[in-house]
Amino acid sequence: MQIIELSSKMSSVAQLLRKERKTTGFVPTMGALHKGHLSLVEEAKKQCDIVIVSIFVNPTQFNDKNDLKNYPRDTKKDIELLKEVGCELLFLPDVKQIYPEPDNRTYDFGNLDKVMEGYYRPGHFNGVAQVVSRLFDIVKPDKAFFGEKDYQQLAIIREMTRKLNYDIEIVGVPTIREDDGLAMSSRNMLLTKEQRKKSTVIARTLFESYNFAKSKSIEETINFVVEKIDNVSGFNTEYFEIVDGDTLQRVNSWDQSGYIAGCIAVYAGDIRLIDNVIYKKEMS
Ligand code: AMP
Repeated sequence: MQIIELSSKMSSVAQLLRKERKTTGFVPTMGALHKGHLSLVEEAKKQCDIVIVSIFVNPTQFNDKNDLKNYPRDTKKDIELLKEVGCELLFLPDVKQIYPEPDNRTYDFGNLDKVMEGYYRPGHFNGVAQVVSRLFDIVKPDKAFFGEKDYQQLAIIREMTRKLNYDIEIVGVPTIREDDGLAMSSRNMLLTKEQRKKSTVIARTLFESYNFAKSKSIEETINFVVEKIDNVSGFNTEYFEIVDGDTLQRVNSWDQSGYIAGCIAVYAGDIRLIDNVIYKKEMS
């Protein structure tokens, strides 16, 4: 696996690959890699000739300085894992490589980023769009792979790609979970043993709510989920919203859309975890 630290070098290597008519699959990450990230790499390998992974903890998407400081980092282990799954290229820039000048670009995502993560983490998605567009400009991949675990992020990236006219196919990859259901996340390693044990309540409740929802209203389903999770000591739901799967706006009844998702953010102590469940997805 070739490791590249300079943006200029990354650009020229990617350009060479295009000249050789090799298709490239790009997987942007913030490191502290786990099987969720690796499943994106595996999907990219299936669909493209060459896989390029980036590891960059993007400061502009952290609205909380402590969260940025405490974000887990383990580049040595990440490199080993990427070698094991057969990643060909790792882009490992520092902040100066991505932002030689401060990035003042702002994006208008309409109502997509006014809700949920966008509401509770102001500026977060603007930072995500800054870094992803910068990475897209450097790598210019054929396809880019993102996890459905970050449900709203995937919708924002699709919108950004459309708006900025990138000729890049965005591929969503299903959430990988621990054996007990917890969605894999780099943040899970920050949980205490006790919090980790209790954290199974999140996925378990979302799965239970899928059946509950079949005979209950939206409001009843929301209350069911929030009550169950908030009953666990030390756990607090920041939001749980049942939304149209495309527009991410709240729905009031199950008939309102053919595509309905439930998205949640929960604080386990100071650690913030997100997850989601799809209640309904009709083929259009
Ligand atoms: P991150 O390093 O957290 O920025 O995540 C990098 C990419 O991995 C994003 O596209 C995430 O949605 C994706 N990802 C994170 N966790 C998972 C998971 N458990 N399953 C699938 N994809 C994931």
